[in-house]
Amino acid sequence: MKKCRICGKKAIIYMPHHRLALCREHFVEWFEKYTERTIKEFKMFTKKDKVLVAISGGKDSLALWHVLRKLGYEADGLYINLGIGEYSEKSKEKVLKFAEKINGKAIIVDLKEELAGIPELVKITSREACSVCGLVKRYNFNKVAKEHGYNVIATGHNLDDEASALLANVLNWNEKYLGRKYPVLEEEAGFVRKVKPFCKFTEKETALYALLNGIDFIEEECPFSEDATSVFYKKILNEIEERSPGTKLRFYLDYLRKIYPKFRKEEEKKELQPCKVCGEPTVGEICPVCRLREKVEASSG
Ligand code: SF4
Ligand code: ZN
Ligand code: ZN
Repeated sequence: MKKCRICGKKAIIYMPHHRLALCREHFVEWFEKYTERTIKEFKMFTKKDKVLVAISGGKDSLALWHVLRKLGYEADGLYINLGIGEYSEKSKEKVLKFAEKINGKAIIVDLKEELAGIPELVKITSREACSVCGLVKRYNFNKVAKEHGYNVIATGHNLDDEASALLANVLNWNEKYLGRKYPVLEEEAGFVRKVKPFCKFTEKETALYALLNGIDFIEEECPFSEDATSVFYKKILNEIEERSPGTKLRFYLDYLRKIYPKFRKEEEKKELQPCKVCGEPTVGEICPVCRLREKVEASSG
């Protein structure tokens, strides 16, 4: 086993993409400093901002909330109960327990009360679960952040999430995606700024950080995630990474440096306007979530 680069003790992790082996203590220290560095590098937010962390109950989002508070940022949590049976019940429990442990404020939105749970929305719309789920989550993050006076929304997306989504979109030559995905999306026309401070950490690194800090997260995956193509792309990327360490991080960072600036310029700005029903920004007259609401109301007679 390799030795910690800082103190020479037995290392618990070797990160080939950084050529870095670290012991328990120095990994935790490195992880926190690296998060701070990413926040500053992309000018995500400062100590003056009010940050709302989107919490799912999983390792990434809870670890993010933990780190941000430890680094001294003003960060509260937002949990959306998606109404996905036992999975949602368990994850909500984890979130509430964690909030109590760190003495943090967690805002809870119950989708079943607000609109309908994801399984019902899938039935009504015949859309894929993750697509409708993504839509209602994004909508609620933005709406709740504004209602409660937060000016930044932070999500726990890690390198595996970002690189796998990038791979899927490159394979489809989705040019719109290539001009839009960045660790910071600035505030515009009714959208609150969105940031991803963990975008350079692998899933393995965030899991280890969560574990070493005694963070009790939900280990079960959402039952709908089995259908998600992202799982398949993550697996492929991990196989490539095994053969050629460092590829995943380089693939993502080269996109940010070389590809994003080119495609960004070409991305046309859509005309956004407030939804006639709820006031959230949208391209049409009525936003997709208000249209969903109409369908839910029609189906319940
Ligand atoms: Fe939502 Fe899909 Fe994630 Fe489940 S796997 S929480 S349905 S986005
Ligand atoms: Zn050490
Ligand atoms: Zn609306």
